[in-house]
Amino acid sequence: MLNPDVLIGIVMVSCMMSVAILGSLLRTAVPGIARWCLAHGLLAIASASVLIAGTPPKQAVTLCAGLITLTAVLLLVHGMRQFFGKAPGRRIETCAFVMAAAALVYLTTQTQNTAARIGVLSLILAYGRITVGTLALRHAPPDGARYPYRFVAAAAYLGALFHLTRAIAIAFGMPQTPFLQPSAWNVLSLGLAIVTLPCLSTGMVMLAHDQLARRMEQLANIDELTGVLMRRAFMARATDLLHKAVAGGKPLSIAVLDIDKFKAVNDDFGHAVGDRILTHVTSVVSTRLKPGDLFGRLGGEEFAIVLVDTGKTAAAAVMDELRLAVEQSPREGVRCTFSAGIECVMPGDTLAGTLGRADAALYVAKAKGRNRVVMASEVDVPEVVTQ
Ligand code: GH3
Ligand code: MG
Ligand code: MG
Repeated sequence: MLNPDVLIGIVMVSCMMSVAILGSLLRTAVPGIARWCLAHGLLAIASASVLIAGTPPKQAVTLCAGLITLTAVLLLVHGMRQFFGKAPGRRIETCAFVMAAAALVYLTTQTQNTAARIGVLSLILAYGRITVGTLALRHAPPDGARYPYRFVAAAAYLGALFHLTRAIAIAFGMPQTPFLQPSAWNVLSLGLAIVTLPCLSTGMVMLAHDQLARRMEQLANIDELTGVLMRRAFMARATDLLHKAVAGGKPLSIAVLDIDKFKAVNDDFGHAVGDRILTHVTSVVSTRLKPGDLFGRLGGEEFAIVLVDTGKTAAAAVMDELRLAVEQSPREGVRCTFSAGIECVMPGDTLAGTLGRADAALYVAKAKGRNRVVMASEVDVPEVVTQ
């Protein structure tokens, strides 16, 4: 039989390594990292105290190790909720943990009932792992790689399965020996901790990296002021949509729009108001676009929209609705309008070609007096759609 002393030593070292790895991510300020780090630190302390106390362990050491483990489980769960932007604590959960702590005190100091004490700890460990795994699966971002979230869930559920089995076995009267005595249950429990605890902390590191990658992607692709795509990201995604539309023989229209006389807004009301008006206009437009359409800031107060599955005439109608919506929603006393040029993608078209023709139509819209939508004509004489 494997020696529990050695196994618990390995658990302790692996928890300390998890602290070092999770600790290296503390400065990234990923929510939950600090609690995960602290939880692994506490588990290392609990393992060390049991190891140092030897067999048979003193009552106080057994109790302390149990209470520290409870706290670590709670911190892991809290950290997971925090990671997903939720309030870390739940009142009913805190009450259950306080009751479990009281039960541990009673079972260790009063009745010295080892099986019941291990049963309580097993239930709490199973609860913590099931909660961590379920949170990871339930809140995994739908649009990204799900692997790190499934990895965490698998590591968490595997441990939970064992702890639940042990708790059930105890409920059916199976006897248990104190932690460091070499019984099959103790060796299995420690062996599983050796496998699943590092897997869990590795999974948590994966989650943190996934969140950091998302943050970087957001910084690189999303315009901070307006929340729409920045030029480079817009162009890349618009090119994809254009290729798909051409390959699938589906219509696709591109509109270029520019806010009218925006310099005057800045001059008359100040740059800060100008910023807020820009944000307002983009929010009016983006809330009215259908899912799948693309909205990007080409630069300054000039934007572009890709309308998927939309031909020329329908695109003109959509853009005119947007134009009216913006015109009819003044903000901070500023009535803002935009002009737009539209072009429909044709077979063999490139994004630059389509955008160029839409841009030419925008110039015509400006020249004709602004606050209007113009369609690029195939023969370079743009046709005025609305006024
Ligand atoms: P037009 O109708 O011909 O488009 O006139 P305009 O005044 O809108 O065009 P112009 O190109 O002369 O001026 C654009 C202005 O948009 C100038 C610039 O300061 C302002 N602008 C560009 N980006 C921002 C921004 O992020 N915030 C603010 N407040 N103003 C911006
Ligand atoms: Mg302008
Ligand atoms: Mg402009």
